[in-house]
Amino acid sequence: ITGAGRGIGLAFARHYVKRGERVFAGCRRREAPAALEALRRAHRDRLTIVPLDVADAASIHAAEALVHKEVDALDLLVNNAGIYSVAGSEEAGEKPGDLDFDDAIRVFRTNAMGPVMVAQACLGLLRRGEAPKIVSLSSEYGSVSANDGFPYYYAASKAALNTLMRSLAADARRWGITVALLDPGWVRTAMGGPGAHVTPRMSVDGMIRVIDRLTRKDSGRFLTFEGREQAW
Ligand code: NDP
Repeated sequence: ITGAGRGIGLAFARHYVKRGERVFAGCRRREAPAALEALRRAHRDRLTIVPLDVADAASIHAAEALVHKEVDALDLLVNNAGIYSVAGSEEAGEKPGDLDFDDAIRVFRTNAMGPVMVAQACLGLLRRGEAPKIVSLSSEYGSVSANDGFPYYYAASKAALNTLMRSLAADARRWGITVALLDPGWVRTAMGGPGAHVTPRMSVDGMIRVIDRLTRKDSGRFLTFEGREQAW
């Protein structure tokens, strides 16, 4: 699980470790947030915190090596880490007149290419997994057809993520890896803000139900946390 230090990623780590899974919790901070550290202390045998910045190739390589030292296979990769804007989790301020190459590329690097690079690094482990799956957190804002003024970089980065994962789904079919995109809903995290009506736990409970039911024929689908088809 990438970006497992807080928000939706932390809720994923909690849910999976509590149901008895072996979990690798990616975290880019040098010191893991207290909640993730507490989870690790409570489940030392099954939760490993893995330093991982998904926007950095060397960090991805080192994270894969650390996981590989402990296990020989992965059943699931959750590409959860993401940013809303260069300002962090605040309102994206991008407007014509302020648009900037470097800001756009930072968001693309984390939200679109990062998940593909992490998936690429984990292919060997996943190919040895049981009914292996790659699940990436997209967004309603990743829908091109619904875009009536979505934030520029974030929406474009999630649309790019969708396209990249469709390409990967086609390639990964031959290795028996299912690749799917999930819209977690509008979730009450630092990114979603206090007005969001879905809690991280509700979102993650729903997404895990969807993930558990995914089969190879679902590869390439874009689904909501409630299991409905999301618009492309
Ligand atoms: P938060 O902002 O609460 O948390 C984001 C997480 O991603 C943090 O753990 C953060 O780590 C991590 N992260 C950011 N950049 C990187 C990086 N380069 N490498 C590794 N980790 C990184 O967001 P949410 O939990 O709400 O969002 C999780 C996912 O769900 C994102 O992909 C988001 O786009 C998507 N989503 C969320 C929605 C919502 O309403 N909340 C709606 C639709 C989609 P750090 O603590 O170090 O910053």
